[in-house]
Amino acid sequence: MSGKKNIAGALPVFLFFSLTTALLAQEKEPPVVSAPAGKAPSDAVVLFDGKDLSGWTYKDGRPAGWIVADGAMTVNGGHIMSKKEFGDHQLHVEFATPSPATGDGQARGNSGVYLQGMYELQVLDSYENKTSVKGMCGAIYQQYTPLVNASRKPGEWQTYDIIFHAPKFDSAGNVIEKAIITVLYNGVLILDHVSISPTPGRLKENESPRGPVFLQDHRHPVKYRNIWVRELK
Ligand code: MG
Repeated sequence: MSGKKNIAGALPVFLFFSLTTALLAQEKEPPVVSAPAGKAPSDAVVLFDGKDLSGWTYKDGRPAGWIVADGAMTVNGGHIMSKKEFGDHQLHVEFATPSPATGDGQARGNSGVYLQGMYELQVLDSYENKTSVKGMCGAIYQQYTPLVNASRKPGEWQTYDIIFHAPKFDSAGNVIEKAIITVLYNGVLILDHVSISPTPGRLKENESPRGPVFLQDHRHPVKYRNIWVRELK
């Protein structure tokens, strides 16, 4: 009698585990991405790996002539843009403003990362350098002040990790949802899912579903390195 009771008790447990195993087998595994420290993830498009500017042109289409040395490129001779264009994407950029620092306010280590060539995330030396808060490092130029000032000293490498959602359009091409951006600056959240409009100095007048990464030449020798993009599906 006690043997039968044990079997009866084990049956629901057996069914439970069989069902769980079957459900787990149906779950879709996310893709494996290897993400070595300090390097682009395995599924990223590498735009600059420290060696050459083959992925970039000046605004007018000439080959980019920024100065490549020691694994970095330095602003020289005009704005540059990536040959590839992106819709919704994750963008990683590293930059360093000149050391020793020269100039004040907007005249100190000024450059910029334009998402899709249209919206400037300001690059500036904002370490103990007062300027308009909507023009400081980490600002969406003239639109948003960063939540905090996470700037490192001039000459130190800094990081932007950006999540960008392109604007949405109706069938006539009108914007029905603005572009949305989230930014971590040196690992610190500075812009939290904010809606943005095109900024001055952009690549073209009107927004579109896709656009290049565009880096500003503001006549200051700002350096960039390790630039990669992951297109978001
Ligand atoms: Mg700028």
